[in-house]
Amino acid sequence: MGEAGETIDTSVPHPARRYNYWLGGKDHFAADRASGDAIAKAFPIVVDLARANRKFLGRAVRFLAAEGIRQFLDVGTGLPAPDNTHEVAQRVAPEARVVYVDNDPIVMTHARALLQGDPRGRTAYIEADVRDPGAVLKHEALRDTLDLGQPVGLLLIAVLHFVHDDGQAATSVRTLVDALPPGSFVALTHGTMDVSSAEGVARYEKMFAAGGTDVRARGREQILGWFDGLEIVEPGLTLVSDWWADDDPAGRPVSDDLGIYAVVARKN
Ligand code: SAH
Repeated sequence: MGEAGETIDTSVPHPARRYNYWLGGKDHFAADRASGDAIAKAFPIVVDLARANRKFLGRAVRFLAAEGIRQFLDVGTGLPAPDNTHEVAQRVAPEARVVYVDNDPIVMTHARALLQGDPRGRTAYIEADVRDPGAVLKHEALRDTLDLGQPVGLLLIAVLHFVHDDGQAATSVRTLVDALPPGSFVALTHGTMDVSSAEGVARYEKMFAAGGTDVRARGREQILGWFDGLEIVEPGLTLVSDWWADDDPAGRPVSDDLGIYAVVARKN
């Protein structure tokens, strides 16, 4: 890793590699493992939540594909893992097109090498920051791959909690959604402390203040505020394992430590 000539500082933990570590992947460095272990020590549920989040990604993409969505804009792609967006979508519709966006150069190196989709569809990769949605939208690779005159499934899965500024997070969602035509969907997951005990919240706040986690948890109302004017799809904003769950409830992570919210909305 890192031999691609990119400037990558492996001494600093990075969300994509730490998430890959929690998912049981192999693309991580010592700093990512140390950070992942420290967070998992304070919040043991986090590993199960990472896996539940990844499963939601699959359910959401299948749902959108069943709704007729054939183009996806996946912002905050992560490292390749089982059931990447284009794999799930192209299983339903081989002609599906996916544009991946991430700000981690390592993610992009892997994505280019590994995420080759069905020749009937298309995939493209953009190295960009969700805090600069205008750059994403005007990128040539996006314009070449997606037709913004046709409905798009915008995926913001476990990415906006890395945007700490509340105004910026709201602006990013609004700018991306505004660029999509009616019939488009947004699927989002986001860390929350709404389900936590007071003791859990205190532990999280202390950890966040000390830089031990870079996830900025947000509450239900704030997240739903980003979807003003959109139609929230049933069953509404739920904990990530509960959104149209197809597994055994007994196996789902339940915790008063921390949670991840999931929501899907339609632009009418
Ligand atoms: N969406 C995937 C991966 C989530 S991990 C999934 O849910 O399975 C979060 C990803 O967001 C990482 O790959 C990280 O590099 C990316 N990310 C974090 N901050 C970002 C930003 N400001 N702009 C773009 N991507 C970002």
